[in-house]
Amino acid sequence: MDKAKIVINGYGTIGKRVGDAVSAQDDMEIAGVVKTRPSFEAKLAVDRGFDLYASTSERIEAFSKAGIEISGTLDELLDKADLVVDCTPGGVGATYKDLYVKHGVKAIWQGGEDHELAGFSFNSEANYDDAIGRDMTRVVSCNTTGLTRALYPLDLEFGVKKSRVTLMRRAADPGNIKSGPINAIVPNPISLPSHHGPDVNSILPHLEIATVAVKLSTTIMHFHALNVELEKDFEPQDIIDLYAGRPRIRFVSGEDNITSTAEVMELARDLGRSRSDMFENVIWKDSISKYHGELYFFQAIHQESDVVPENVDAIRAMCELEPDGVKSIARTNKSMGICK
Ligand code: NAD
Repeated sequence: MDKAKIVINGYGTIGKRVGDAVSAQDDMEIAGVVKTRPSFEAKLAVDRGFDLYASTSERIEAFSKAGIEISGTLDELLDKADLVVDCTPGGVGATYKDLYVKHGVKAIWQGGEDHELAGFSFNSEANYDDAIGRDMTRVVSCNTTGLTRALYPLDLEFGVKKSRVTLMRRAADPGNIKSGPINAIVPNPISLPSHHGPDVNSILPHLEIATVAVKLSTTIMHFHALNVELEKDFEPQDIIDLYAGRPRIRFVSGEDNITSTAEVMELARDLGRSRSDMFENVIWKDSISKYHGELYFFQAIHQESDVVPENVDAIRAMCELEPDGVKSIARTNKSMGICK
């Protein structure tokens, strides 16, 4: 079969990463990326060899004035594509639904959109099979991806009776000057529990989960403290063994002098990852504990990148490029340098 032709609409934090990840696969390729206005990112997209398209015809002139070559409009690009990955800001993606339907292209939205927009929310390990051949899918947010990766295998092997999670969220992405810095701890949302638990339920409807979230004055990672009651008895080593076998979990430890998210980011740099990305859940092995019969541990989530391999797997399932989710995850991981 020919390579699936993929459009990236919205070439920002998530879009540029998904663009590179798609380019690293042998069964899909980028048909074009879409920008609203000229910027260094638009210039770099052209330098990377991507055909650049303007979101509307009215916007082409601004690119011409900036000396950036434009191949056409989103409308024209969609006619050449099999699937569009919408990486526009939360809420904007929904406004494009009619256009995608009109052109008969499959569409993936990100976690900033509501579950109802696509009617299906995706996580590679939990529901790859249900995405096969679908026309519309939402890849859940960075936090929901991280929680699903941690809780799905626990539920499979030990049965989750109840999970309680405190999410300590980065206030803004490092490249974003709109929402930071903050000099405060911000309960977000103030009303409890937070929306993160129900979002996990969009993938795992039966899972008992309650979440609370605060924003902290950091840009580099989210941090989760998990407390889980399991149906079956366990020892910490059982949980370590379980996570050691999962494809997108990486252990770190205080013994290795990784005692903070700053050192996790240093690790990503030392691994030579592009943009210092850490695609895996990062679990502190030495935090995995049993206390009064319940499981406790810490994990860090790199908000800019953990959803990227999930987008690649969602494309593969929706375009029916690979029927086996385990194989898709392995292919994506290998191409992106995610190895245990
Ligand atoms: P971003 O602001 O970094 O990038 C959005 C891009 O879309 C920008 O290039 C912007 O110029 C462009 N854009 C704006 N309006 C547009 C329009 N009308 N048409 C086409 N392009 C338009 O945003 P992001 O952080 O990449 O977020 C994208 C989606 O991914 C959101 O749904 C968000 O919730 C989700 N998400 C973000 C993160 C994160 O931490 N950044 C993590 C997981 C999921």
